[in-house]
Amino acid sequence: VVVLDRSHFPRDKTCAGWITPQVVETLQLDLAEYARTRTCQPITAFRTGLLGSHGREVVTRYEHVVSYGIRRCEFDEYLITRSGATLQPGVVVRALRRDAEGWHLNESHVARMLVGAGGHFCPVSRELGNRKRPHVPVVHAQEIEFRADPSDLARGTVEPHCPELFFCEDLEGYGWCFRKGEYLNIGLGRVGGAQLTEHVAGFATFLRKTGKVTAPLPERWHGHAYQLYEHLPPRLYDERVLLIGDAAGLAYPQSGEGIRPAIESGLLAADVILSAEGDYSSGQLSRYADQIGTRFGPVRSRRLGGWLPAGWLRFVAARLMGSHLWTREVLLDRWFLHATQPALQHG
Ligand SMILES: Cc1cc2nc3c(=O)[nH]c(=O)nc-3n(C[C@H](O)[C@H](O)[C@H](O)COP(=O)(O)OP(=O)(O)OC[C@H]3O[C@@H](n4cnc5c(N)ncnc54)[C@H](O)[C@@H]3O)c2cc1C
Repeated sequence: VVVLDRSHFPRDKTCAGWITPQVVETLQLDLAEYARTRTCQPITAFRTGLLGSHGREVVTRYEHVVSYGIRRCEFDEYLITRSGATLQPGVVVRALRRDAEGWHLNESHVARMLVGAGGHFCPVSRELGNRKRPHVPVVHAQEIEFRADPSDLARGTVEPHCPELFFCEDLEGYGWCFRKGEYLNIGLGRVGGAQLTEHVAGFATFLRKTGKVTAPLPERWHGHAYQLYEHLPPRLYDERVLLIGDAAGLAYPQSGEGIRPAIESGLLAADVILSAEGDYSSGQLSRYADQIGTRFGPVRSRRLGGWLPAGWLRFVAARLMGSHLWTREVLLDRWFLHATQPALQHG
């Protein structure tokens, strides 16, 4: 297996870096070994609220660890090294063509079987004709991650075991402030990119005014986009090719969590490829689409803001976000932690 990636590892990926225990279980991560030289912040609580609701915040505490904070620059390098695949970094895949031999990439590599894993702008997905469609919701987000001065961390009120999530009043996105050891990760994502920079600036001001963050923030925020699992690309597989992760648009609609779907779809794809025993016809690979449907359910709008008329949203959102019961049982357990969906068993 050869992995071609445009970046050199360790590379950063614009991401909050929050993973659930199901990811740890599916990957059979040895957390003690992982955390020996890397950031791995256990999470046992969340502080949530609605932006603009004048300070009403709900803290939900758990008796056990419900998530972990990792840094993508470390996590991705760890996984790619552990996989045993041959990594060819610094290769930008630009040109693709298929013939009887397989896929030709940049006229320098030939693959009998190709997995498109290039994220939202994956060239393989594009080659399959999956153009971006205006009616398909895309999350646009900006994020910063930086090592903060210990005195700034001590003055700010964000605690490492308790990430803070603040939802936009129209429920079309949220901002997060997440302390992972000595690192702070701050960002905001919204469906549709309209006025994202203004929302981000407003959130940064809110964090500063409320004393949550006192550290000076880096000026340059990193932006990225990705699609939620509300529509599948017209082609998820074809002759000798499958799409996984953001290239297939699999992120969970309510939370935007995409690491778990990326890993699970990668493992499902690997199982399908191995069991195909060299027959990479599209008929043989169609099992992959069935497995994605079974694992992630039917595609439909499941976003927070998608199910209420606009006029009701603000009122209902304020009531719901102020409720301890709803926050724990629906927002966190069901939508953010997928607590009742066991880890993927594969292989
Ligand atoms: C701001 C933000 C915060 C997020 N926070 C979280 C979170 O806390 N938890 C969570 O679960 N999810 C989060 N997500 C979603 C998550 O980051 C993605 O869903 C996940 O990274 C998808 O993984 P992937 O492997 O499919 O794609 P990516 O992680 O995007 O990886 C794609 C790879 O393809 C390479 N590539 C791209 N184009 C080419 C090319 N032409 N040639 C060669 N290589 C190429 C890139 O260099 C990259 O290494 C967040 C997303 C954003 C934008």
